[in-house]
Amino acid sequence: MALWCEQAWLSDGWRSSVRLTVEKGRISAIETGVEAAPDDERHDIFLPGLPNLHSHAFQRGMAGLAERAGTGNDSFWTWREVMYRFVDRLDPEGMRAIAALAQAEMLESGFTRVGEFHYLHHDVDGRPYDDLAVMAGAIAEAAAETGIALTLLPVFYAHSGFGGIAPTHGQRRFINGVDRFAKLLEESREAVAGLDDALVGVAPHSLRAATADELASVAAMAAGAPVHIHIAEQVPEVEACLAWSGARPVEWLMENAAVGPDWCLVHATHITDAERAAIVESGAVAGLCPITEANLGDGLFPAREFLAEGGRFGVGSDSNVEIDAAAELRLLEYGQRLAHRGRNLLAGGAGQSTGASLYRGALAGGGQALGRPGAGLVVGEAADIVSLKARDPFFAGRSGDAILDSWIFGGAARLVDCVWRGGVKRVVGGRHIARDAIGARYRGTIARLFA
Ligand code: ZN
Repeated sequence: MALWCEQAWLSDGWRSSVRLTVEKGRISAIETGVEAAPDDERHDIFLPGLPNLHSHAFQRGMAGLAERAGTGNDSFWTWREVMYRFVDRLDPEGMRAIAALAQAEMLESGFTRVGEFHYLHHDVDGRPYDDLAVMAGAIAEAAAETGIALTLLPVFYAHSGFGGIAPTHGQRRFINGVDRFAKLLEESREAVAGLDDALVGVAPHSLRAATADELASVAAMAAGAPVHIHIAEQVPEVEACLAWSGARPVEWLMENAAVGPDWCLVHATHITDAERAAIVESGAVAGLCPITEANLGDGLFPAREFLAEGGRFGVGSDSNVEIDAAAELRLLEYGQRLAHRGRNLLAGGAGQSTGASLYRGALAGGGQALGRPGAGLVVGEAADIVSLKARDPFFAGRSGDAILDSWIFGGAARLVDCVWRGGVKRVVGGRHIARDAIGARYRGTIARLFA
């Protein structure tokens, strides 16, 4: 199969009249400056698919349900109460239905691989299902249906606060000791074995949820696959960590764990200059979730300084309150503009395109964090391709990096035309090919579980 386009964003920049040959799901040849062959599928603009490095798929089902003011000060913590009530009703079929819709929407927006930070393991009463990894299996089934590439990150969660505090009732479906987690991890690997190019990492949920010993044991289980952890998302979390250990979360982690390029520190919002330098030095990826961090009122990651120092980052849709690859990049830049009252703060230097800089960074960092470095339109890599509707009037007069800047800052998801994952076309004309069936099942699920 060969795909031809007028302009493509390759690893060394924009090229015209580009022909990609795809064999067994991978790009086997790239020709530039050539005419399309008669059987080639013709398109306007090709970009590499973007990794979505942090998702809790089921939370897509509660998007918009936590936007009503409470009686006190609303915060992350009151949002979490709504989330826990939502979790109380989910079953494996509900998980599958909601995950499928979320994944279809991810593909429609330009994400082609997702890191699913998966913590809802057990039955509603907190007891393990007979099939321990049935919920992981539900996510894998959704990925089989939607075609998104999956990096599954089973979450280790054992405590409700720093120092090994007992979990709360609302957390009963998440909880495992180290031994049962090892079994869950093994069964999770089996659950994704039938998927194309899936892998399984590990995710100690946070320093609240795992003790130092547990963190070490769980990280060792990754066996070279990615290790993801939520960290320093909230100021009260930083204060609690200081009270417990005398150190801030990232500071503590860097002193007590072997953090390296296989790690992804999700959020890392509240960090000092020294902590920021330590993350850069480690080669770990900062997992930034700008839309969710704005929705939850988390705060702003010091992206301007971090990127200037060579820090690696990727983006994640996290709570999935909105699923839009371009919008994540846009908000990442806008947060910095609002904080610093300047423009093009993440462009990487004079004359550089902000959109191209953000896309390049999130592609490399996201691929690294999801265990698939080298993502991009490169011979030998998976054929994960996004095409944009260059014939839309919006793109008139744009070429090269101005396409990325225009898409990210002005167009977003409606300008995505087709998306291929592993060489299979899953989105046509901006719609996932199974959207109708997935949408109908999702509606039925919400009615059944939440009516
Ligand atoms: Zn998260």
